[in-house]
Amino acid sequence: MNWISNYVRPKINSLFSRRETPENLWTKCPECGSMLFHREVSENLNVCTSCDHHMAIAPRARFAALFDGGVFSTVPVPEPVADPLHFRDQKRYPERMRAAQRETGEHEAMLVAQGEIGRTPVVCAAQDFSFMGGSMGMYVGNAIIAAAERAVESQSPLILFSAAGGARMQEGILSLMQMPRTTVAVEMLKEAGLPYIVVLTHPTTGGVTASYAMLGDIHIAEPNALICFAGPRVIEQTIREKLPEGFQRAEYLLDHGMLDRVTHRKDMRDELIAIVRMLMRLGPAVRGDLPAPDPVEALAKPAAPEAPDTRASEPAEEAKPE
Ligand SMILES: [Zn+2]
Repeated sequence: MNWISNYVRPKINSLFSRRETPENLWTKCPECGSMLFHREVSENLNVCTSCDHHMAIAPRARFAALFDGGVFSTVPVPEPVADPLHFRDQKRYPERMRAAQRETGEHEAMLVAQGEIGRTPVVCAAQDFSFMGGSMGMYVGNAIIAAAERAVESQSPLILFSAAGGARMQEGILSLMQMPRTTVAVEMLKEAGLPYIVVLTHPTTGGVTASYAMLGDIHIAEPNALICFAGPRVIEQTIREKLPEGFQRAEYLLDHGMLDRVTHRKDMRDELIAIVRMLMRLGPAVRGDLPAPDPVEALAKPAAPEAPDTRASEPAEEAKPE
């Protein structure tokens, strides 16, 4: 029996789970098809080294690259009712959830974190497309509300990275209710006078595009990201017409006034720092050697209350007498 479990079974498994084997060492670029060394790709923030195609990146990896010294604390999200509709397609909804959790190592389709970028305190939320297509369910709604509340509490901007196939059908109408809920969360930020920046990544579609992903003060997209409500295939079938080249892609939308910027992933951090500091009326970011914040200290003070005030006084632009 040992021979079967130690030798035959791994061989059979390796035949059937070919997807897993190259993932450890090699990644195939879905755009140009070149085989890329896995470590090289992750060091390059999951951007293809030969054609610059932006592949999906997990929220945790994105945050590690975004925050100063890769240090951030996660913001807790209230747990919604599990499977309220007892939904079942080919599989039961809780089974699908467990499979997604196993595959991604994450609890749900959105991760909220707090930390500093370029020594500027921010709250970030990122959607995980590999977790059930990043679908917007009650948890994602709760996550956005938790992120907005934390941003208001700590008087810091909110940066949201969207990636979703739309609403989570397993939660039916309850997932659609997240559209008005998240809209109210965004309103909270606007009332508090805090910037809300949306980074649209490939793909951002459906109800997500119809709510919080399109309500930012600034909309930045990653190159060639598909951003739409209904996909190009559905539109083509409905209107029976050929759509123009690059339709609903980031560059096309920038040309047609739907976006403010299209930014390469490697420049995203610097750009976000510049935008956030401008909108918060802080001085320009310090370029050069910033020592990484002490992880223990950074985790101990999640709110970071005094940091923005000291720097805000420098430009002395604020209280202009009438
Ligand atoms: Zn490529």
